[in-house]
Amino acid sequence: MPATSTSSEATAIDWAAAARETVLHLQRMIRIDTVNPPGNELAVAQYLDSVLTAARIETHLFEPAHGRAALVARLTGDGTRRPVIIMAHMDVVGVERANWTVDPFGGETVGGYLYGRGAIDDKGMLAANLETMLLLKRHVIDVGARLTRDVIFVANSDEEAGGEFGMGWLVNNHRELIDAEFVLNEGGRTRVVRGKPLYVAVQNTEKVPHGVTVTAHGPSGHAAVPLAGNAVFRLGRALAAIGNYQEPVRLTPSTHEFFCQLARVWPDPTERRAMDDVASRDRRRVLRGARMLMMTPVFNAVLRTGISATVVSGGIRSNVIPAEATALLNIRTLPGQSIDAVVSRLRRVINDSRVEVAITQRGEDAPASDFTSPMFAAIAETVKELAPDMVTVPYMSTGATDSARLRQLGMQAYGLLPFPMDQEDEDRMHGNDERIALASLDFGTRLIFGAVQRIAR
Ligand SMILES: [Zn+2]
Repeated sequence: MPATSTSSEATAIDWAAAARETVLHLQRMIRIDTVNPPGNELAVAQYLDSVLTAARIETHLFEPAHGRAALVARLTGDGTRRPVIIMAHMDVVGVERANWTVDPFGGETVGGYLYGRGAIDDKGMLAANLETMLLLKRHVIDVGARLTRDVIFVANSDEEAGGEFGMGWLVNNHRELIDAEFVLNEGGRTRVVRGKPLYVAVQNTEKVPHGVTVTAHGPSGHAAVPLAGNAVFRLGRALAAIGNYQEPVRLTPSTHEFFCQLARVWPDPTERRAMDDVASRDRRRVLRGARMLMMTPVFNAVLRTGISATVVSGGIRSNVIPAEATALLNIRTLPGQSIDAVVSRLRRVINDSRVEVAITQRGEDAPASDFTSPMFAAIAETVKELAPDMVTVPYMSTGATDSARLRQLGMQAYGLLPFPMDQEDEDRMHGNDERIALASLDFGTRLIFGAVQRIAR
C-alpha cells in the first residue's frame, strides 16, 4: 500500500445496492422486539456483531445485565487524529398495537415507506451507521486506502429508560473503548416543510432539566371554619403567579445561528421576518421577533428557560384543611444559566414567605459542542452535496440526550436525525405507525457516510 494513499482513492459505491442492504438490515432489526422495558437488546447486538464480524470488522460485545447489551466496533485509522464515534440505541418504546395499521414488529414496506417501531427512533440510524461501517470497510480499508482516525460504532441499550444499562454503563466500565474527539448521535432534525426539504438541524447543545418543588404552608383545621391562610389557596395563588411569568428571552450563540440560518429558507414571510429580528442583536428587534415566535411553543422553548407545572398534591380528606400543599415544577434551563437564579426570581414572583421553593433535582450542565468545528463543517458540506438547497443549522434540543454525558467528558457530540421528514412523520416517533421513507433512509445513510468519510480522511 503506498504511504500517501488516502480515502479519496476509495472505490466508487453502488448506492442503489447500499440502499437495499440498509433496508434489509433495518427490517431485520425491527423484527427483533426490543421494547424497553425489558429491552432484550442482546438479540440486536448479536445480529450486528454477526454482520460486522462477517465483514472482518473488530467488535466487542458486552452484557451489562441479563439480556441487555453494548456493542462497540472499530475501524482502525492511522492515528493522525483522534477517533470519531457513530452511535445509536437498540431499545425502543412500547406500542399501542390496536392503533397500528400494520404489525409494529413486521418491518413491512408499503408505498415507499418502511414501517415499524424504531424505524425512526433509533433503529433507522443504527442501520445507517452499520451501513457506513460496511462501506468504509469495503471501499476504503479493503482497497488499501486509509483513515486518519478510528471510526467507532457504538450500539447501546436502555436509552429510553434512563441509560443505566446503556451509555452510563459503557462510560463507567469501558471508557477506554469510547474515547473520541467527535461523536454523532441521535437528537437532531432533517425537516421537510410544505413538501420541501428545508434544513438539517444538528443538535450541539441541550437544555438542562431540573426538578423544583413549591410548598405552601398554612394553618390546618376543620373545613367548617374557613381559614385565611389556607395552604391550598396559597399554593393556587403561587401557581397562578408562576403561570403568568415568563423567564427572559436569551439567545445562546447556537440559537442565534439557528434563527439566522433558518431565516434564509423559512417559507412563511411573517415568521421569516421574526427570525431575522431575533437574530439581529438589536434588543428592540429581538424582543419584537421573540413575541411573534413565542406563539409557536417549540420556538418559545428555545428562546428562554421553560417552566412546566407537572404534579399537584395536598390534603387527605374533603373536610380537613391541610397544613401544606405542594406542586412539582419541571424546569429546563438554557445551557449556562443557573437554576438557583431562576428559583430566586420565582420566589420574588410568588412573593409569599409561607411558600417555599426548593430544588429537589439538579441537572448537570454540559458545554455546548462547537458549531464551527471540522465535524460540523463535514456534516454541512455533505448536506450541500446531497441537497444544495438545504441549510445546516446548529440546534439546541429542549429534551435531554446521552450526548450531554459525552460532552461532560470533553467530546464534541452532535445530534442528527439524518432522515428528511415532515412534522407529521416525525410525530409518529414514539407514536403509532412509525415509519421511514425509503428515500429518506437512503439520504440519511449517505449523510452519515459522507460526514464520517470527510472527517476521517
Ligand atoms: Zn432515541
